[in-house]
Amino acid sequence: MSGKHGEWVYETVEEMGARFGIRVSEKLLDEQTPYQHLEVWRTERWGNLMLLDGVIMLSSLENYLYHEMMAHPALQSHVAPRNVVIIGGGDCGTLTEVLSHKEVESVVQIDIDEAVTRAAERFFPELTARNDDPRVSLRFDDGVAWMRNAPAASVDVIIVDSTDPIGPGTGLFGPDFLADCHRVLREDGIMVGQSESPFYHMPLMIDYHRAMAAAGFAERRSLLFPQPVYPGGSITGTLARKAGSLDEIRPLADDIATRYYSTALHRGLLATPPFMQEALGDV
Ligand code: SAM
Repeated sequence: MSGKHGEWVYETVEEMGARFGIRVSEKLLDEQTPYQHLEVWRTERWGNLMLLDGVIMLSSLENYLYHEMMAHPALQSHVAPRNVVIIGGGDCGTLTEVLSHKEVESVVQIDIDEAVTRAAERFFPELTARNDDPRVSLRFDDGVAWMRNAPAASVDVIIVDSTDPIGPGTGLFGPDFLADCHRVLREDGIMVGQSESPFYHMPLMIDYHRAMAAAGFAERRSLLFPQPVYPGGSITGTLARKAGSLDEIRPLADDIATRYYSTALHRGLLATPPFMQEALGDV
Protein backbone atom coordinates (compact mmCIF):
# COMPACT_ATOMS: atom_id res chain seq x y z
CA MET A 1 0.00 0.00 0.00
CA SER A 2 1.49 3.38 -0.90
CA GLY A 3 0.66 6.46 1.12
CA LYS A 4 1.49 10.04 0.21
CA HIS A 5 1.93 12.42 3.09
CA GLY A 6 3.05 15.72 1.70
CA GLU A 7 5.99 15.02 -0.53
CA TRP A 8 6.69 11.43 0.56
CA VAL A 9 5.72 8.11 -1.00
CA TYR A 10 5.57 5.23 1.47
CA GLU A 11 5.47 1.47 1.15
CA THR A 12 3.85 -0.05 4.22
CA VAL A 13 4.25 -3.69 5.27
CA GLU A 14 1.33 -4.02 7.67
CA GLU A 15 2.19 -7.52 8.89
CA MET A 16 5.62 -6.29 9.99
CA GLY A 17 4.46 -2.95 11.35
CA ALA A 18 6.99 -1.28 9.12
CA ARG A 19 6.98 1.55 6.57
CA PHE A 20 9.60 2.78 4.13
CA GLY A 21 9.42 6.21 2.50
CA ILE A 22 11.10 8.16 -0.29
CA ARG A 23 10.74 11.89 -0.75
CA VAL A 24 9.28 12.66 -4.17
CA SER A 25 9.05 15.82 -6.25
CA GLU A 26 6.58 14.96 -9.03
CA LYS A 27 4.12 12.27 -10.05
CA LEU A 28 5.04 11.20 -13.59
CA LEU A 29 2.48 8.43 -14.17
CA ASP A 30 -0.57 7.06 -12.36
CA GLU A 31 -2.33 4.32 -14.36
CA GLN A 32 -4.78 1.59 -13.42
CA THR A 33 -3.82 -1.13 -15.91
CA PRO A 34 -5.98 -4.25 -16.44
CA TYR A 35 -3.70 -5.99 -13.91
CA GLN A 36 -2.36 -3.54 -11.34
CA HIS A 37 -1.98 0.06 -10.20
CA LEU A 38 1.13 1.49 -11.89
CA GLU A 39 2.82 4.63 -10.53
CA VAL A 40 6.03 6.38 -11.49
CA TRP A 41 7.38 9.28 -9.41
CA ARG A 42 10.34 11.58 -9.78
CA THR A 43 12.24 11.58 -6.49
CA GLU A 44 14.66 14.00 -4.89
CA ARG A 45 17.59 11.55 -4.51
CA TRP A 46 16.75 8.23 -6.20
CA GLY A 47 15.94 9.21 -9.77
CA ASN A 48 12.60 7.83 -10.94
CA LEU A 49 10.65 5.36 -8.81
CA MET A 50 8.13 2.73 -9.97
CA LEU A 51 5.44 1.16 -7.80
CA LEU A 52 2.95 -1.60 -8.64
CA ASP A 53 -0.08 -1.90 -6.36
CA GLY A 54 1.69 0.33 -3.86
CA VAL A 55 4.79 -1.89 -3.76
CA ILE A 56 8.12 -0.32 -4.75
CA MET A 57 9.57 -2.07 -7.80
CA LEU A 58 12.74 -0.10 -8.60
CA SER A 59 14.43 3.27 -8.61
CA SER A 60 16.86 4.64 -11.18
CA LEU A 61 19.63 4.82 -8.57
CA GLU A 62 19.92 1.28 -7.26
CA ASN A 63 18.12 -1.15 -9.55
CA TYR A 64 21.44 -2.58 -10.79
CA LEU A 65 21.76 -4.56 -7.54
CA TYR A 66 18.58 -6.51 -8.15
CA HIS A 67 18.91 -6.89 -11.91
CA GLU A 68 22.51 -8.14 -11.75
CA MET A 69 21.56 -10.63 -9.05
CA MET A 70 18.52 -11.91 -10.93
CA ALA A 71 20.61 -12.54 -14.04
CA HIS A 72 24.25 -13.45 -13.33
CA PRO A 73 24.13 -16.11 -10.57
CA ALA A 74 21.71 -18.27 -12.59
CA LEU A 75 23.63 -17.83 -15.87
CA GLN A 76 27.03 -18.45 -14.22
CA SER A 77 25.65 -21.60 -12.61
CA HIS A 78 24.87 -23.05 -16.07
CA VAL A 79 27.62 -24.55 -18.21
CA ALA A 80 26.35 -23.05 -21.48
CA PRO A 81 23.10 -21.02 -21.26
CA ARG A 82 21.74 -20.56 -24.77
CA ASN A 83 17.95 -20.23 -24.36
CA VAL A 84 16.71 -18.04 -21.50
CA VAL A 85 13.14 -17.26 -20.40
CA ILE A 86 12.25 -14.34 -18.13
CA ILE A 87 8.83 -14.41 -16.48
CA GLY A 88 7.83 -10.90 -15.40
CA GLY A 89 10.74 -8.49 -15.67
CA GLY A 90 8.60 -5.86 -17.39
CA ASP A 91 10.99 -3.00 -16.56
CA CYS A 92 13.59 -4.88 -18.71
CA GLY A 93 16.47 -4.39 -16.25
CA THR A 94 17.04 -8.12 -15.84
CA LEU A 95 16.76 -8.58 -19.62
CA THR A 96 19.52 -5.98 -20.11
CA GLU A 97 21.84 -7.95 -17.82
CA VAL A 98 21.03 -11.27 -19.55
CA LEU A 99 21.89 -9.74 -22.93
CA SER A 100 25.41 -8.92 -21.71
CA HIS A 101 26.14 -12.68 -21.92
CA LYS A 102 27.38 -13.39 -25.46
CA GLU A 103 26.71 -17.12 -25.16
CA VAL A 104 22.96 -16.46 -24.79
CA GLU A 105 21.27 -17.03 -28.16
CA SER A 106 17.64 -16.22 -27.31
CA VAL A 107 15.72 -14.50 -24.50
CA VAL A 108 11.92 -14.70 -24.34
CA GLN A 109 10.39 -12.33 -21.78
CA ILE A 110 6.77 -12.87 -20.77
CA ASP A 111 5.23 -10.10 -18.66
CA ILE A 112 1.49 -10.04 -18.07
CA ASP A 113 1.32 -6.25 -18.23
CA GLU A 114 2.56 -4.39 -21.33
CA ALA A 115 1.97 -1.08 -19.52
CA VAL A 116 5.01 -1.77 -17.31
CA THR A 117 7.34 -2.08 -20.29
CA ARG A 118 5.83 1.00 -21.96
CA ALA A 119 6.35 2.97 -18.72
CA ALA A 120 9.95 1.70 -18.52
CA GLU A 121 10.54 2.93 -22.09
CA ARG A 122 9.47 6.43 -21.00
CA PHE A 123 10.88 6.69 -17.49
CA PHE A 124 13.73 4.12 -17.31
CA PRO A 125 15.07 4.21 -20.92
CA GLU A 126 18.46 2.98 -19.72
CA LEU A 127 16.77 -0.36 -18.98
CA THR A 128 15.00 -0.78 -22.33
CA ALA A 129 17.82 0.45 -24.59
CA ARG A 130 18.72 -3.11 -25.69
CA ASN A 131 15.18 -4.36 -26.32
CA ASP A 132 15.78 -4.32 -30.08
CA ASP A 133 18.58 -6.89 -29.76
CA PRO A 134 17.71 -9.63 -32.33
CA ARG A 135 17.90 -12.28 -29.58
CA VAL A 136 14.97 -10.69 -27.69
CA SER A 137 11.32 -11.71 -27.93
CA LEU A 138 8.92 -9.68 -25.74
CA ARG A 139 5.59 -11.34 -25.05
CA PHE A 140 2.73 -9.93 -22.94
CA ASP A 141 0.92 -12.86 -21.34
CA ASP A 142 0.35 -14.64 -18.04
CA GLY A 143 3.60 -16.41 -17.18
CA VAL A 144 1.68 -19.25 -15.53
CA ALA A 145 -0.21 -20.01 -18.74
CA TRP A 146 2.85 -19.56 -20.92
CA MET A 147 4.90 -22.04 -18.86
CA ARG A 148 2.01 -24.52 -18.82
CA ASN A 149 2.02 -24.54 -22.62
CA ALA A 150 5.79 -24.44 -23.14
CA PRO A 151 7.46 -27.57 -24.59
CA ALA A 152 9.38 -29.87 -22.25
CA ALA A 153 13.18 -29.68 -22.08
CA SER A 154 13.33 -26.54 -24.20
CA VAL A 155 14.98 -23.92 -21.94
CA ASP A 156 18.37 -23.65 -20.21
CA VAL A 157 17.63 -20.87 -17.67
CA ILE A 158 14.31 -19.57 -16.31
CA ILE A 159 14.33 -16.27 -14.41
CA VAL A 160 11.16 -15.39 -12.49
CA ASP A 161 11.42 -11.65 -11.94
CA SER A 162 7.94 -11.22 -10.55
CA THR A 163 6.04 -9.06 -8.15
CA ASP A 164 5.12 -10.44 -4.74
CA PRO A 165 2.61 -13.29 -4.44
CA ILE A 166 -0.34 -10.92 -4.54
CA GLY A 167 -2.60 -10.26 -7.50
CA PRO A 168 -1.22 -11.54 -10.82
CA GLY A 169 2.05 -12.68 -9.19
CA THR A 170 0.41 -15.23 -6.90
CA GLY A 171 0.55 -18.15 -9.32
CA LEU A 172 4.27 -17.70 -9.91
CA PHE A 173 5.04 -18.94 -6.40
CA GLY A 174 2.83 -22.02 -6.64
CA PRO A 175 3.71 -25.72 -7.04
CA ASP A 176 1.98 -26.13 -10.40
CA PHE A 177 3.95 -23.31 -12.02
CA LEU A 178 7.20 -24.55 -10.48
CA ALA A 179 6.47 -28.08 -11.70
CA ASP A 180 6.01 -26.64 -15.20
CA CYS A 181 9.35 -24.80 -14.86
CA HIS A 182 10.98 -28.13 -13.93
CA ARG A 183 9.42 -29.81 -16.99
CA VAL A 184 10.38 -27.00 -19.39
CA LEU A 185 14.01 -26.86 -18.25
CA ARG A 186 16.54 -29.13 -19.94
CA GLU A 187 18.31 -31.73 -17.72
CA ASP A 188 21.11 -29.29 -16.76
CA GLY A 189 18.64 -26.40 -16.46
CA ILE A 190 18.69 -23.72 -13.78
CA MET A 191 15.93 -21.45 -12.47
CA VAL A 192 15.96 -18.44 -10.17
CA GLY A 193 12.97 -16.75 -8.59
CA GLN A 194 12.54 -13.48 -6.73
CA SER A 195 11.88 -14.85 -3.26
CA GLU A 196 11.40 -11.84 -0.94
CA SER A 197 13.35 -10.90 2.18
CA PRO A 198 13.89 -13.29 5.13
CA PHE A 199 13.51 -10.36 7.53
CA TYR A 200 9.93 -9.76 6.38
CA HIS A 201 8.74 -12.95 4.68
CA MET A 202 10.58 -16.03 5.98
CA PRO A 203 7.34 -18.11 6.00
CA LEU A 204 6.89 -17.29 2.33
CA MET A 205 10.49 -18.31 1.61
CA ILE A 206 9.92 -21.63 3.39
CA ASP A 207 6.77 -22.24 1.32
CA TYR A 208 8.69 -21.36 -1.84
CA HIS A 209 11.44 -23.87 -1.03
CA ARG A 210 8.81 -26.49 -0.25
CA ALA A 211 7.06 -25.86 -3.57
CA MET A 212 10.38 -26.05 -5.44
CA ALA A 213 11.26 -29.31 -3.66
CA ALA A 214 7.82 -30.74 -4.52
CA ALA A 215 8.41 -29.73 -8.15
CA GLY A 216 11.58 -31.84 -8.19
CA PHE A 217 14.28 -29.24 -7.53
CA ALA A 218 16.45 -31.04 -4.98
CA GLU A 219 19.27 -28.48 -5.15
CA ARG A 220 18.15 -24.99 -4.03
CA ARG A 221 19.91 -21.94 -2.53
CA SER A 222 18.55 -18.52 -1.56
CA LEU A 223 21.07 -15.74 -2.13
CA LEU A 224 20.51 -12.74 0.17
CA PHE A 225 21.53 -9.35 -1.16
CA PRO A 226 20.93 -5.65 -0.40
CA GLN A 227 18.15 -3.72 -2.09
CA PRO A 228 17.79 -0.28 -0.45
CA VAL A 229 14.27 0.46 -1.66
CA TYR A 230 12.73 -2.88 -0.63
CA PRO A 231 11.28 -3.71 2.79
CA GLY A 232 14.09 -4.72 5.11
CA GLY A 233 16.61 -3.25 2.65
CA SER A 234 17.21 -6.70 1.25
CA ILE A 235 15.77 -9.42 -0.93
CA THR A 236 16.67 -12.94 -2.07
CA GLY A 237 16.88 -14.74 -5.35
CA THR A 238 16.39 -18.49 -4.94
CA LEU A 239 18.42 -20.61 -7.33
CA ALA A 240 17.31 -24.16 -8.14
CA ARG A 241 18.66 -26.80 -10.48
CA LYS A 242 17.40 -30.18 -11.68
CA ALA A 243 20.74 -31.95 -11.32
CA GLY A 244 24.27 -31.20 -10.15
CA SER A 245 25.47 -28.73 -7.53
CA LEU A 246 24.88 -24.98 -7.33
CA ASP A 247 28.42 -24.72 -5.94
CA GLU A 248 29.75 -25.34 -9.46
CA ILE A 249 29.91 -21.91 -11.09
CA ARG A 250 31.69 -20.39 -14.09
CA PRO A 251 33.77 -17.23 -13.55
CA LEU A 252 32.13 -14.14 -15.05
CA ALA A 253 33.51 -13.19 -18.46
CA ASP A 254 35.85 -10.19 -18.39
CA ASP A 255 33.70 -8.30 -20.93
CA ILE A 256 30.63 -8.21 -18.66
CA ALA A 257 30.61 -4.98 -16.61
CA THR A 258 28.91 -5.20 -13.22
CA ARG A 259 28.66 -2.96 -10.17
CA TYR A 260 27.58 -5.50 -7.58
CA TYR A 261 27.86 -9.08 -8.86
CA SER A 262 31.26 -10.77 -8.92
CA THR A 263 32.33 -14.41 -8.99
CA ALA A 264 33.80 -14.09 -5.47
CA LEU A 265 30.59 -12.50 -4.17
CA HIS A 266 28.53 -15.27 -5.81
CA ARG A 267 30.63 -17.91 -4.05
CA GLY A 268 30.22 -16.08 -0.74
CA LEU A 269 26.47 -15.74 -1.07
CA LEU A 270 26.16 -19.51 -1.64
CA ALA A 271 27.08 -19.88 2.06
CA THR A 272 23.59 -19.57 3.51
CA PRO A 273 23.58 -17.52 6.77
CA PRO A 274 22.85 -19.68 9.85
CA PHE A 275 19.50 -18.03 10.60
CA MET A 276 18.31 -18.84 7.07
CA GLN A 277 19.85 -22.32 7.15
CA GLU A 278 17.97 -22.98 10.38
CA ALA A 279 14.65 -21.93 8.83
CA LEU A 280 15.16 -23.47 5.40
CA GLY A 281 17.53 -26.30 6.18
CA ASP A 282 15.09 -29.14 6.60
CA VAL A 283 12.72 -28.17 3.79
N1 SAM B 1 11.90 -6.31 -8.68
C1 SAM B 1 10.45 -6.41 -8.53
C2 SAM B 1 10.08 -7.13 -7.26
O1 SAM B 1 10.95 -7.75 -6.65
O2 SAM B 1 8.89 -7.03 -6.88
C3 SAM B 1 9.87 -7.06 -9.75
C4 SAM B 1 9.96 -6.16 -10.91
S1 SAM B 1 9.05 -6.53 -12.34
C5 SAM B 1 8.40 -4.97 -12.63
C6 SAM B 1 7.67 -7.50 -11.79
C7 SAM B 1 6.79 -7.86 -12.97
O3 SAM B 1 6.06 -9.07 -12.75
C8 SAM B 1 5.72 -6.80 -13.31
O4 SAM B 1 6.05 -6.15 -14.51
C9 SAM B 1 4.41 -7.60 -13.41
O5 SAM B 1 3.58 -7.15 -14.47
C10 SAM B 1 4.95 -9.00 -13.64
N2 SAM B 1 3.99 -10.08 -13.34
C11 SAM B 1 3.22 -10.24 -12.23
N3 SAM B 1 2.48 -11.36 -12.33
C12 SAM B 1 2.79 -11.93 -13.55
C13 SAM B 1 2.37 -13.11 -14.23
N4 SAM B 1 1.45 -13.93 -13.70
N5 SAM B 1 2.91 -13.38 -15.44
C14 SAM B 1 3.84 -12.55 -15.99
N6 SAM B 1 4.29 -11.41 -15.40
C15 SAM B 1 3.76 -11.12 -14.18
